[in-house]
Amino acid sequence: MPRDFSPPEANEKFGNFQGCDLLGFLTKKEPVVCEFFSAERKECVLLPFSFAPEKKSSFHSHLKNIPTNMGKATGFLEIERKTIPNRPPLERLKDWEEIHEHRDDAAVGKQAARCMDCGTPYCHTGMLLAGMASGCPINNLIPEFNDLVYRGRWQEALERLRRTNNFPEFTGRVCPAPCEGSCVLGSIEPAVTIKDIECSIVDRAWEEGWLKPQPPENRTGKKVAVVGSGPAGLACADQLNKAGHKVTVFERADRIGGLLMYGIPNMKLDKQKVVDRRVSLLREEGVEFLTNVSIGSDATWTPERLRTDFDAVVLCCGATKARDLPIEGSDASGIHLAMEFLTANTKHQLDAGFAGTIPALNAEAKDVAVIGGGDTGTDCVGTSLRQGCKSVVQLEIMPKPPEKRAPNNPWPEWPKVYKMDYGQEEAEAVQGADPRRYLVQTKRFLKDAEGKLKGLEICDIEWVKDDQGRFLPQEVQGSSRTIPCQLALLALGFLGPEQEIIKAFSLATDSRSNVKAEHGKHTTNVPGVFAAGDMRRGQSLVVWAINEGRAAARECDRFLMGNTRLP
Ligand SMILES: Cc1cc2nc3c(=O)[nH]c(=O)nc-3n(C[C@H](O)[C@H](O)[C@H](O)COP(=O)(O)OP(=O)(O)OC[C@H]3O[C@@H](n4cnc5c(N)ncnc54)[C@H](O)[C@@H]3O)c2cc1C
Ligand code: SF4
Repeated sequence: MPRDFSPPEANEKFGNFQGCDLLGFLTKKEPVVCEFFSAERKECVLLPFSFAPEKKSSFHSHLKNIPTNMGKATGFLEIERKTIPNRPPLERLKDWEEIHEHRDDAAVGKQAARCMDCGTPYCHTGMLLAGMASGCPINNLIPEFNDLVYRGRWQEALERLRRTNNFPEFTGRVCPAPCEGSCVLGSIEPAVTIKDIECSIVDRAWEEGWLKPQPPENRTGKKVAVVGSGPAGLACADQLNKAGHKVTVFERADRIGGLLMYGIPNMKLDKQKVVDRRVSLLREEGVEFLTNVSIGSDATWTPERLRTDFDAVVLCCGATKARDLPIEGSDASGIHLAMEFLTANTKHQLDAGFAGTIPALNAEAKDVAVIGGGDTGTDCVGTSLRQGCKSVVQLEIMPKPPEKRAPNNPWPEWPKVYKMDYGQEEAEAVQGADPRRYLVQTKRFLKDAEGKLKGLEICDIEWVKDDQGRFLPQEVQGSSRTIPCQLALLALGFLGPEQEIIKAFSLATDSRSNVKAEHGKHTTNVPGVFAAGDMRRGQSLVVWAINEGRAAARECDRFLMGNTRLP
């Protein structure tokens, strides 16, 4: 909201901005960056602005007196950003427990005071800028819950959070936080610790018992089948159940959760304490879950039966077709897809009750090469270290990102900067350095007489433009070398959804082999069949899956009832 303040200096300096209202912020640095709303232009602009020191202090005190809903008007000037620390790497490597430290409500409340309650809060916009999410994709009401946490009104903060996010305990743990990447404060100071705040609100809610089953008061008599129990399927089921429909979730795995269960490792997201807890609540609210049912190959639950027994079907089957590396020697034993490795470990740990054992497919005493420098690769590094690997290296074909935003990657775009994630921190603690090697390509897998992997031949590359302007990797002459490796894990990204179920439902696909359905509508070419999550948009993020699951539920409800009140 525009505030009742119009700095005369702004009009003096930028005469064409008459009637400006200060919306944004003042920093400790010069020049001060302010965000103005120009009543004349009807748009917001960011202006660098220099104040004389005496004016700056009167400006500061004026800021304190501005009538505003904001908890602490000068919080961002006085308080440094401080996140809740993770457990020390060498300590957390001894177990499969979450890496996060316990809640610290007082510290989080103080951090919430840094929020400026911006007139135009980019943190919750959820746009795609340069192909990446900028701001929260589910439009969390961030300034509102920040303020409520600062004031100690945690239950009200929870109510705000629940309006947009079905599972803040998942996003609060695993989301890369595009909200923080686009936080206005982040354009000149470190961003507000939004992710910590979100996670603390919901963790406290669970601990205090504020989250109780709330089954719908009335049932509509309509039945919906949701196929796939990842975050898209769960969000969709939750919403449709709230609308009063009878929802059955079909899952081919033995446990519910999709990549929340078998994908993201336990140390990032606890399966029993966090994922199962939410699934139990959904069950108590009336959602039915059927596991070990693979739609498309199951003899009982055929696609035809789903379409006749249910009034609508929502497909949320993910995009789990992994990219392979078909180079010389790829038939050696000891080369595995990252998901195979990660799933085997999580399943083993859950089945064995975290008894200190590891599955047959393991990294123990091996030199491990994780091929792929992304987040899935990071999970492989963390898992290999916990299984007691001899060494681990992570090979990345792209260059090392810059330490700070590049000029062509300005705020509020997602910051493509170098960061140490938990797996790399752990590898550094054990091996003394970041395990990632940039601009490196794997040329061939080397095997011994028995066909077992014994090493990799790798080389450095540079990206060179061809005559059509495309960048292609080119080997740096003389850089070829071999490294020992008895376990290679392929974390090279995903090609799209598996096609069998798509064919079984006769669904049209787009050019990337995803199910063809417009974002926000989610209707496929088959009436009454909807698609959401990675299966529609390609491998993405948990928060986008929640966005899609909610939207598909809304459109499915409209299809069933003729109108909808779902957000
Ligand atoms: C290793 C790894 C780590 C990741 N880490 C993060 C992270 O830290 N943060 C983040 O935001 N995102 C992360 N992601 C991405 C994120 O997990 C996905 O974008 C998200 O889970 C997609 O949700 P979804 O519901 O669309 O699909 P999924 O979570 O893939 O769930 C799809 C479900 O459908 C089931 N299914 C498929 N076909 C059938 C069928 N025929 N019948 C019945 N069931 C079927 C599958 O078994 C699966 O359970 C990670 C991904 C991977 C692979
Ligand atoms: S979280 Fe950041 S962008 Fe959002 S209102 Fe607060 S300061 Fe502004």
